Amino acid sequence: MSQHGLMVARPRVVVVGGGFGGLAAVRRLARAPVDVTLIDRTNHHLFQPLLYQVATGLLSPGEIAPPLRVITHRQANAAVHMAEVTGIDPDRRRVHLRGADGTSGDLGYDHLIVAAGARDSYFGHRDWARHLHPMKTLAQAVDLRDKLLAAYERAADTDDRSERDRWTTFVIIGGGPTGVEVAGQLVSMARQFQRDFHRLATGRARIVIVEAGDSLLAAFSAPLRAHAQRKLSSLGVEIRVGTKAVRVDGRGVDVEGGGGARERVAAGTVVWAAGVKASPLAAMLGDATGASVDHRGRVQVAPDCSLPGHPEVFAIGDMADADNLPGLAEPAMQEGWYVAKHIHRQITGRSAPGRFRYRDLGTMATISPVDAVADAFGLRLSGVPAKVAWAAVHLAFLTGWGKRGGVLARWAYELGTSNRSERVILEGVGSEDGLNRLAHSDEPAAETLMAGR
Ligand SMILES: Cc1cc2nc3c(=O)[nH]c(=O)nc-3n(C[C@H](O)[C@H](O)[C@H](O)COP(=O)(O)OP(=O)(O)OC[C@H]3O[C@@H](n4cnc5c(N)ncnc54)[C@H](O)[C@@H]3O)c2cc1C
Repeated sequence: MSQHGLMVARPRVVVVGGGFGGLAAVRRLARAPVDVTLIDRTNHHLFQPLLYQVATGLLSPGEIAPPLRVITHRQANAAVHMAEVTGIDPDRRRVHLRGADGTSGDLGYDHLIVAAGARDSYFGHRDWARHLHPMKTLAQAVDLRDKLLAAYERAADTDDRSERDRWTTFVIIGGGPTGVEVAGQLVSMARQFQRDFHRLATGRARIVIVEAGDSLLAAFSAPLRAHAQRKLSSLGVEIRVGTKAVRVDGRGVDVEGGGGARERVAAGTVVWAAGVKASPLAAMLGDATGASVDHRGRVQVAPDCSLPGHPEVFAIGDMADADNLPGLAEPAMQEGWYVAKHIHRQITGRSAPGRFRYRDLGTMATISPVDAVADAFGLRLSGVPAKVAWAAVHLAFLTGWGKRGGVLARWAYELGTSNRSERVILEGVGSEDGLNRLAHSDEPAAETLMAGR
């Protein structure tokens, strides 16, 4: 209310994306005199760093995906809207939406924060998509879990030795943290399943990491890279560095080593842990504002994360190129806090904060239930100390004490019983889609594709 008794509308802040960046911004705006609308096409915040534990049956989907409405229910100035943003018009200050019921509409804003993240990308090989299992959304992780569990059932069901070997061969394309973490979990899974599959030597499952670069975990220091490689090898993981996937079809992968020699790896499941590309909203913002877009689809932002000519529009996180920071949760969150502070200062008439500066807290990857590597907080750790640090950091960043308790209990259960509790295949044999869907990779070889990387 103004001093003359007139209602003064509060500035409207629209935040697109309830991931790490968007959510950090929404929370930081809790005490600002603004009305915040958080728009996401899903109803949850996804803790992507633990997606692979859902995909391998260790955690349930709900444990890493708290609903956005629950996270924000105490924040009086925030509203959640489940819709897909299909366009942005910075000149008219409007976002275009498609709602859950399929209807379209527009929403106006005074300040806009776009934090729509990234999606999987196959380096131009869209045709690989039907044979690969990416892990970017909860649905993809559950799909991969079904596929992994069904692979063991199929292997147990066949008397054909080569088919059995194929179903128990798992190829992971990409040797970054996600590829390494998935490989470690697949080893544990294979060992644990021995108890339940009497006629199948699950412990002999073949797990292969294919990495085009010359080492695993390229972002880590040399001793930690060597540690991870040594440990995974000792667990029986086949590591093919300097090797490209050049053809992916329904029955496996063709790989090409440094010397150009090709080899066929027959596999029942191929996990894609190699590439992501920024949300298409990044290119839309680039078109609308003249900002450039890099080869990863990220829109280049100013030092304060805003778009050219639009100090009221910010792009952050995986979809934005701010000093070429890595696509990690921490930069997204720090940018979210920063732009929220920036907006708060703008509307309360204070001077703008200095340029955005990233505080690098490092990176971590887990290898086995008792081993990890951590290049973080100025320390280089491996083995049990790194695993403890990894667990502490992941629990700290999970949203909600209930979720933290649940995840900790699951980890303790796995350590204590050598079992994993999420082993339901959602659709079984004979259902409409069921194992037919899971068997899609059974189709004979389709297209030949060269990976240009
Ligand atoms: C498997 C995996 C493991 C990872 N492990 C780690 C790790 O160990 N450590 C680490 O730091 N980082 C890790 N990352 C990276 C990290 O998760 C990302 O860097 C981080 O999520 C980026 O945050 P963001 O806010 O930019 O995007 P996101 O967190 O991806 O959020 C984007 C949000 O926008 C929504 N959205 C997208 N498009 C639209 C649209 N058009 N309309 C409405 N809503 C939309 C999405 O639903 C999503 O909620 C991992 C990522 C993956 C996939």
